[in-house]
Amino acid sequence: MTTSAGARRATSGSSGGPTGWGRQRPVVYWCRHGHRVEFLIAAEAETPASWECPRCGEPAGPDPGDPPGRQRAEPYKTHLAYVQERRTPEEGEALLAEALDALRRRRGRA
Ligand SMILES: [Zn+2]
Repeated sequence: MTTSAGARRATSGSSGGPTGWGRQRPVVYWCRHGHRVEFLIAAEAETPASWECPRCGEPAGPDPGDPPGRQRAEPYKTHLAYVQERRTPEEGEALLAEALDALRRRRGRA
């Protein structure tokens, strides 16, 4: 019997079109603000690691529980904050006195 061969010819003949885009598949990503980002990519294409959220501009990823670009739990510290943290109060006072002394000298000259 040739029923299976006929069916295969029917499905392959119906594929393709004048769009030029080929087949596409929907992808749903989530940004860290909870926005649902839905877009279409080519069926053969690999899903991108991240996709820019059109609503907030943040990167979105496939896992709603772990979106890319998430802020680190540890707050960002400036270099100055580190320096101030490491310095003892005595050192800080000495530096301040030094700075004031230099300022005074400069003023005395002018
Ligand atoms: Zn967003």
